[in-house]
Amino acid sequence: MFHSSRASGRRPSAGYNGAVLRPAILLGLVLVLSACRANAPVAAVTAPFGSVRAETLAEAQQVAARAAELVPTIRSAVPGMLDRPIEIWVQRQLEIFEGEPYADHIAGMADFEEARIHVRTGDERVALHLAHELVHVLAGPTWATLPGVLEEGLCDVVAAAVVPEHGLEQHVKRLVEAAATAGGLSAIVSFRQWRGGDAYRIRAEVRLSLGDVTPINLNRAFQLSASEVFAKAAGDSSGGLYGVGYLVAHRIVERQGFAGLHRLCLAATERGLERVPAADILAAAAMNASPDSLRGAVVDSIGDDELEELARLVAKDLAIATVKLCKDMGGEDRPTAFLERADLELRLPHRARPVKLARLREFREEFLRAWGIEEI
Ligand SMILES: [Zn+2]
Repeated sequence: MFHSSRASGRRPSAGYNGAVLRPAILLGLVLVLSACRANAPVAAVTAPFGSVRAETLAEAQQVAARAAELVPTIRSAVPGMLDRPIEIWVQRQLEIFEGEPYADHIAGMADFEEARIHVRTGDERVALHLAHELVHVLAGPTWATLPGVLEEGLCDVVAAAVVPEHGLEQHVKRLVEAAATAGGLSAIVSFRQWRGGDAYRIRAEVRLSLGDVTPINLNRAFQLSASEVFAKAAGDSSGGLYGVGYLVAHRIVERQGFAGLHRLCLAATERGLERVPAADILAAAAMNASPDSLRGAVVDSIGDDELEELARLVAKDLAIATVKLCKDMGGEDRPTAFLERADLELRLPHRARPVKLARLREFREEFLRAWGIEEI
């Protein structure tokens, strides 16, 4: 949600990897294409929070049931949320204007002025995306000084908290995206090997990422307007800014709760500032703007469960790297025996507790596939 442009017109914002239309361009679309607004989906249900429209009544009811739980949960967990009726459209193509669909990596949109959320038909993670967009349309004027990147972070932190079935996955995905903006997350793969009756442990450093991400300077990221966050996120599905926003918002909320993040906004408003200064944000997150600090913050946010989830998330790349390593080292030539005997581990530097990779189904499957053997 992008408060600074509120007065100038409608402000759709996007969920997940998505963002917001530039207000100026959107205004243009409103003027030129006002006859071409997308039609509302045909099936409609009303709910305590407002209404849901979808292509089928069943889907509208399903989404309404989940949103009916999410809205009061978010309102009671996060300060400064508005009490306003909300409309949700569940669309096959995410569009505000007919024939102008948003890119596939954008999972949801929020139009603050209309208090309307757009999500996708058949989305397995619709609750997560709904929660994210709900924060955009519910966050009231007391949040106005929150920088665009941190607003996305707030939406994701709330979504991970109120949709626990996807919370861990969301947390880890955003952390990996954040680390990728500072050179990637470094981890160590190790396994046991035998030579002439002696056992050795082979160790190799791997860089974990979910694709290439442009390096991001934190100080500059916090100065981006909401529309700039949109422009970057809409053209780039790798999520670097969303990762950074999540990491920093998560750290502040972890230390001071949602109220602490809110207080930063109130203090900036009192001082007559347009946005919370980057220095205040970094201090509240106990970080500085260096890549080292960012990578350290990511590692701090990964415990045992998170490391295991991380191994699942990057199972394919990890398996490819491990197979190559094993073959290069002239190790075991039977992959199933290797998985059984080699005690394959993934750990983060300076962390005692590794993940035993052979225990993860996702890794085993990818390992055998990478070796050239179909799943068994
Ligand atoms: Zn968003």
